[in-house]
Amino acid sequence: MRKHIFNAGPCKLPDSTLKNTAAAVLEFGNTGQSIMEVSHRSADFQAVYDEAVALFKEVLNIPEGYHVLFLGGGASMQFCMIPFNFLKTKAAYVNTGTWSTAAIKEAKLWGEVQVVASSEADGFTYYPEFTIPSDVDYMHITSNNTIRGTEIFKDPDSPVPLLADMSSDICSRPVDVSKYAMIYGGCQKNLGPAGVTFVIIKDEFLKHVVADRPIPTMLKYQTHVDKDSMYNTPPCINIFGVKETLKWVKEMGGVKVMEELAIERANAIYNELENSKMFRPVVKEGSRSRMNIPFLLREGYESLEKEFLDFCKQKNIVGVKGHRSVGGFRASTYNACTMDDVNALISAMREFEAAHK
Ligand SMILES: *Cc1c(COP(=O)(O)O)cnc(C)c1O
Repeated sequence: MRKHIFNAGPCKLPDSTLKNTAAAVLEFGNTGQSIMEVSHRSADFQAVYDEAVALFKEVLNIPEGYHVLFLGGGASMQFCMIPFNFLKTKAAYVNTGTWSTAAIKEAKLWGEVQVVASSEADGFTYYPEFTIPSDVDYMHITSNNTIRGTEIFKDPDSPVPLLADMSSDICSRPVDVSKYAMIYGGCQKNLGPAGVTFVIIKDEFLKHVVADRPIPTMLKYQTHVDKDSMYNTPPCINIFGVKETLKWVKEMGGVKVMEELAIERANAIYNELENSKMFRPVVKEGSRSRMNIPFLLREGYESLEKEFLDFCKQKNIVGVKGHRSVGGFRASTYNACTMDDVNALISAMREFEAAHK
């Protein structure tokens, strides 16, 4: 029986992604080979790759003048590749939690980092306002903070190249891609299985590469742009899964519909948290992510944490344990999460509360 999956990543994926990828593992098209066996240089796989890129461009409305890449290494590899390629002297970062902190740490290896805003003093419970300086090589934001559950819903105007880690909210809303020099993320939060990283990079921005720094071939964006992500063997089956998920997003009506559904799910859970006598939200209004919703037990009930997690398990609900660094609970409500999943969680919360009056 399929569970109600609230995992933060790898995440729940659409049934069609699972079915079609499973079928391709047994036989990929009419090739007589598995998607795990077929050559990444074959015309059959090239068609999968091209379709994934084309769907991504269509669904996200990526304008001309951008390249889409599917690479290995995770979003974490991008944390070091970005400054390695583009940080000459100084870059600006917003610090909104664990992932921004990790990105900042890598950037400091290559130059000065100006942290233009941080919500750290308040436990990262809101998305801070920031001004983008004009004297930096680039500006970096994390659009959705998977662990803390804060999100910025706008695409800021920037006087310098703007880069965004959109690992956990990509394709959950329309994005004005033209505002960004680069958007990247691990695909395992909203686009497909773990093991593949998406990069949307503006051709013009590629010219900003630090000219006098030797950069290993594999860590150079230009390498992957020149070879359309096929400089080395790409993560083939993962790209197939991404292609299937993008197809599903398109069939569902695109990112506008994804956004409406995401708002419906998040509102339902946040309403429950606001009104519950047992559970409470953590993130301040205005910054509340639609993708990751952290919550805690109210005063007097704190000792029931493990019991609630066990109760969820009985109700076939998985993935609601908070990140190990923050504790409590977190419901990740990515694109493939349904109102049926959400209602199961809300019912469990109510039933648990009633049993502990
Ligand atoms: C999960 C996550 C990462 C790390 O991704 P990996 O692919 O595991 O390296 C980075 N940034 C954000 C916002 C994330 O949610």
